[in-house]
Amino acid sequence: MIAGHFGLAAGVKAKAPRLPLWALMLATFWLDVIFIILFPFGIESLTQVDPAHPAYGGALIHAYYTHSLVGALLIAAVTGWLASYPWGQDGGLVIGAVVFSHWILDLIVHRPDLPILPGNAGNLPLLGFGLWEFPVASAIVELALVLTGAYLYYQRAAALPVPPKANPSDQRRRVLTTSLVTTVLLLLLLLSDVLGL
Ligand SMILES: [Zn+2]
Repeated sequence: MIAGHFGLAAGVKAKAPRLPLWALMLATFWLDVIFIILFPFGIESLTQVDPAHPAYGGALIHAYYTHSLVGALLIAAVTGWLASYPWGQDGGLVIGAVVFSHWILDLIVHRPDLPILPGNAGNLPLLGFGLWEFPVASAIVELALVLTGAYLYYQRAAALPVPPKANPSDQRRRVLTTSLVTTVLLLLLLLSDVLGL
């Protein structure tokens, strides 16, 4: 789902142009970054559902802190609050919302492995609509996110005023090139998601 998360970041960038793209991309992926930090300590882990078919969400993710509903909300709130220092209150709100968007997208694709409370306290039912069980549908959703994000990104870049000394057709070529490179990178990520890399 990496491509889908990043596609969303590219789309948000179009709507919140003051926020750097790297910050939005990092925000979409922030819960997984913390997961990767906790992983070596055995606090959160992965188990392979079907080792023969590692593609598309072939793993159950035991991320009972970072990927619990309440945990994700807390991480989003703290990250948004920190982001409000460099980027103001609006920027902080956008970053917080983007951090939490990761949980929403994960909720759609994950098999039921997302707890409500941190540490799965109270043994409440685990959440996840399991779209990953249908690789074609998952790829289509992700492709839609990538294409929408890339399109919004391109639209915004194309609408920027041409710098006074720049040649308008050079400028247009530059916008098209960056947008195309972004799209190709996202599509490659999507391919790696589909192959389960
Ligand atoms: Zn995740």
